[in-house]
Amino acid sequence: MPSNPLLHFITKAINLQDIKVINYDFITDSEILIELENKHKEGECPHCRNTKVTVHQNHWHIVRDIPLSYYQVFLKVNRRQFKCKKCKKVFSEKLSFIKTRRSYTKRLASKVVGEVLETNVENVARKNRMTVSEIETLLKEYEADLLSERPRKIKKLGIDEITQLKGGKNYAAVLVDLDTRKPIALLEKRNKAVIAEYLFSLGSEILEQIEEVSIDLWKQR
Ligand SMILES: [Zn+2]
Repeated sequence: MPSNPLLHFITKAINLQDIKVINYDFITDSEILIELENKHKEGECPHCRNTKVTVHQNHWHIVRDIPLSYYQVFLKVNRRQFKCKKCKKVFSEKLSFIKTRRSYTKRLASKVVGEVLETNVENVARKNRMTVSEIETLLKEYEADLLSERPRKIKKLGIDEITQLKGGKNYAAVLVDLDTRKPIALLEKRNKAVIAEYLFSLGSEILEQIEEVSIDLWKQR
């Protein structure tokens, strides 16, 4: 077992909220596996809001994270299943840094999407030591997440192109909230009809708030 100061250092270095590093292992010369523990001992029952729970089962799984120096980082995470002492229902805990059923952290997804918008998929795959198909999967899941988390308010809307992906599903345009710099939708086509269809789907309440639209389609890179 590694020393406590070293584990403490890695806990600081990976900088995830409410998480403690309990072990690590260099899998290869360039890959490190970091084992985490959630500092919260208890969870809140989503059914009856009771906080008196017991651990029902441990579910360890491995997710990819942003690189640490030269190392590709994999996190070994326990998404515990709790049993509520009051209503006896079983539920999985929510982890603030990973979306349910994703094999990577939220911050890796944001980093990859940001980089894809700046350069292209092949570059981003190389830089993050991922395959093109892993990047495509991530983009596809990101698109689904964006669709389920529709924006509530947009004042300045940006429409930009994405370099076409090779093979698989192609994304052609991204809509960005220019105030937060966050993407709000990835679209497969960059023509007016597709963009208009998405915008209308947001509803008039949101559309009426938009004060400014900046379009940067078909820009030469
Ligand atoms: Zn309950």
